Amino acid sequence: MERGLSPSKEISSYAPFTQKAAIQYWQSLLGLDLWQIKTVRISEMQVLDDYFDALPGHEFVGVCIDNESLCATIYHTRKLLDDDILHELLHVRFQDWTEDEVVHCTAKLQASFDHQWIVSEARAAV
Ligand SMILES: [Zn+2]
Repeated sequence: MERGLSPSKEISSYAPFTQKAAIQYWQSLLGLDLWQIKTVRISEMQVLDDYFDALPGHEFVGVCIDNESLCATIYHTRKLLDDDILHELLHVRFQDWTEDEVVHCTAKLQASFDHQWIVSEARAAV
C-alpha cells in the first residue's frame, strides 16, 4: 500500500516509506535498474528448516535469482524491512559474496548516509 505524503513534510533523498520505494531506491543505487524485482509472501508452513528435522513453520526471507531473465524474487514469511530488501538486493548485485560479506555491507550501508560511496567502493573491489 502506498502511503500519502504530507506536503509539509521534508522529504530527504533517502525516504523509503513503502516496500516499493525501498526496492526502487536500493535497486537504482546498486545499478540493478535492468532487473525486475518481485516479492512473494509465503506461509511459514512452506518453510522447512534443515536444523530442526525439516519441520515446517519457520520465518524466512530469501531471494531467488534468475540471471537469464534478470529477475529476482524475494520470498518472505513476514513483512519485509528495509534491511531485508537491501540484504537480498546485495545478494543479487554481488553474487560471489559470502553471506558474511552481504551481512557486513548491509550493516555498513544502514549505518551510513553516504550510500553512493560505499556502493562504489564495493563495486570497485569486485
Ligand atoms: Zn543472505
